[in-house]
Amino acid sequence: MGRAAGEMRRDSVALDWSDDTVGPWRGVPPGLMAELAARVADAPAAVWVRIDGRCERVVGRSGAAVAGWPESWRVADGPAECLLRMNGALVVEDTSADLRWGCCPLRVSADIRALLAVPLRGADSGITGAVYVVDTVSRRWPDSVLEAVERLAAWASGATAGQAAPWGAADAGGAADVPEVADTDDAHGKIAVASSGPASDPFLTALVETLDVGVAACDSRGRLILYNRALRELRGLPDTWTPSEDLATSLAARPVLGPDGDPLAVERTPLGRALRGEVVENTDVVLTAPGQRLRIAAARAKPIHDGDGRCVGAVVALQEVTDRRRAERFAECELQVARALAESVSVAAAAPAVLEAVARSLQWPHAELWLIDGAGEQLDPVAQWSAPGLDLQVELPAVTSFEGIVGSVWATGRPLWVPDLAGSRYLTTGEAAARSRECARQGLRTVLAVPLLDAGRVQGVLACFADTLEDGQELLTTLLGTIARQIGQFLARRRADELALDLARTKDQFLALVSHEMRTPLTAISTYTELILTDDDQACCPDHRMLLERIDRNTRSLRAIVNDLLDLAALESGRFTICREPIDLVAVVLDAVSAAATAAATAGVELLTALPDRAELHGDAARLRQVLDNLISNGIKYSPHGGQVHLRLDADADADAGKAGEAGDMVLTVSDTGIGIPEAERPRLFGRFYRASTARTHGIPGTGLGLTIVRAIVEAHDGTIGLVDTAGPGATFRVRLSSGPPATGTPD
Ligand code: ADP
Repeated sequence: MGRAAGEMRRDSVALDWSDDTVGPWRGVPPGLMAELAARVADAPAAVWVRIDGRCERVVGRSGAAVAGWPESWRVADGPAECLLRMNGALVVEDTSADLRWGCCPLRVSADIRALLAVPLRGADSGITGAVYVVDTVSRRWPDSVLEAVERLAAWASGATAGQAAPWGAADAGGAADVPEVADTDDAHGKIAVASSGPASDPFLTALVETLDVGVAACDSRGRLILYNRALRELRGLPDTWTPSEDLATSLAARPVLGPDGDPLAVERTPLGRALRGEVVENTDVVLTAPGQRLRIAAARAKPIHDGDGRCVGAVVALQEVTDRRRAERFAECELQVARALAESVSVAAAAPAVLEAVARSLQWPHAELWLIDGAGEQLDPVAQWSAPGLDLQVELPAVTSFEGIVGSVWATGRPLWVPDLAGSRYLTTGEAAARSRECARQGLRTVLAVPLLDAGRVQGVLACFADTLEDGQELLTTLLGTIARQIGQFLARRRADELALDLARTKDQFLALVSHEMRTPLTAISTYTELILTDDDQACCPDHRMLLERIDRNTRSLRAIVNDLLDLAALESGRFTICREPIDLVAVVLDAVSAAATAAATAGVELLTALPDRAELHGDAARLRQVLDNLISNGIKYSPHGGQVHLRLDADADADAGKAGEAGDMVLTVSDTGIGIPEAERPRLFGRFYRASTARTHGIPGTGLGLTIVRAIVEAHDGTIGLVDTAGPGATFRVRLSSGPPATGTPD
């Protein structure tokens, strides 16, 4: 990571560059110059080298990417070769694609993907050194960056309009490091000279002023000697402000806060820490300015050492990261909101946690959530969160009009940004005007309210209040919009769940209606029809008898459908139960076969059986009869005239029959010679209402409910049912049932 102070000193001490042609940085830590070059180019690292005959030697470096840059090498091995040949700057956007770099025999590091090399010239304009600014990703080096680095190099070379270098004399060789200072033990004295240098040097001033990064430097006693435009802006200081005070006074007037929001003591600020010898890498600080929003800056700071390694001051660079940090906090906030919603049954229950997460992410002291009531006629306040210390006295009313902050968002379905509540019309409009006045009275300023949308309809409003005048409307609206979308989606899911529940309830009610309102009259119709048909006294003419028989048939099939629907409803609501007891399955099969005899004869289908004498198992005889009725009636229904339906009942050869005390499985096979079922459709056969294409194309009536119920009954007996792959025509169903007692309870 960053270079330690000791390393910087070593750079300085190692510098025996007494050649006056490139001497201006004597007395200025070369590491700092490298840092400055990197900052000017907004790059992560830079190296300053001296080119001496055939040798190139590092005199200052900054940034981890160049930590491995060799102390010295032959000019022919490095980028300097190119510089000298071209007698000008070398711009490499992508080292992996640029031949000039590719030919360079010495690869400093595979991490270096872009290079900007600018020559440093001596008095005779000959190249005596170079500054290399590098990046770890390929990038463009705009002309403005090249120019800035060239100007920095020119200044450092002392070539700018023939000026003497500001941070040390260029005329007297190594002995004149800091000539103005009489008392060389007085570090403050040295930097005092330096302070007049950077502040008064027009080039450096202009350069530092153009940086987007805030830069400040202080002398060894903490007196501010450099304070650029970007930093003045960050701290809300006027453009005319010049650093005439010390760090402590400046902080007293305008505290710098730590990430937790507590003011930092001087020695805990990045500059204060650097002054004590620490290299500070990317520490966040919060900057305050009266009437302005809080701004977060990532700070890097370093001590400044003189040629003898003594600390003569410190420099800090502050990069504003407010938006980045906000986005990061909001990403975390999204997770918290998702968690709160997932753990709650309703938005109202999740609201307190959601509001706290949102308000804390914004670092705003107040947030409110409003939801449309069931009738869609008003917005009800569901929850609010206020930072400790904020006590809003006025209750939140329900909002019924499209006025006020919340009402306006309801009306438009769009976010609303109120830059300054105090001067806004919302203090007088809408039901919540009194509340807005109270907010303004308590110092709440900026308001951002966003709609909670579900399928484009406003379902609620999320309103957040800041106690500062905020900017960044676009970013904040986007961030808060993301949270609002999350809540909106939750509302949509909830509504879908409620609708599904409603639907299920309606379906149950419908089935109950079918059960009571249809089954009873159907039973009556069947009974009376049967009575008339069987009553010998009733002189029924043949035509009437035929009609009555038709009524009887249709009533029976209607009753069967009603019974299937009721079974299905019971299945889906979990009310489907079976009662298992020892039974003889063979008897059940024979009963079913005999009941189907008439239908089989009518259809011209032969019923064949291959059954053992007895097959005992624990089962629900009535339900198993349902299974057999369905399979046999399907076999008859889907077989042509002259076809056959075979029923077999066997002990399962594959099962562990005969094991100590265990009974084997029973396998019932029902096969027919009918229309069959296409292989591709078989997996869906047991689904509700599914009918195979063969049944539909042959126009054979049915509901697609029977097999669903059959499977449920078989599975309730811990059995399985499936289709057997057979080569011939027709379909073969195989039911496997355990003949042992039912499993009791669920294993732990
Ligand atoms: P339904 O017979 O009333 O349509 P089922 O649930 O009993 O309903 O059967 C579902 C579908 O399976 C039927 O529509 C039919 O396509 C197919 N099917 C069932 N049994 C047979 C069979 N023995 N032969 C051919 N197709 C069958």
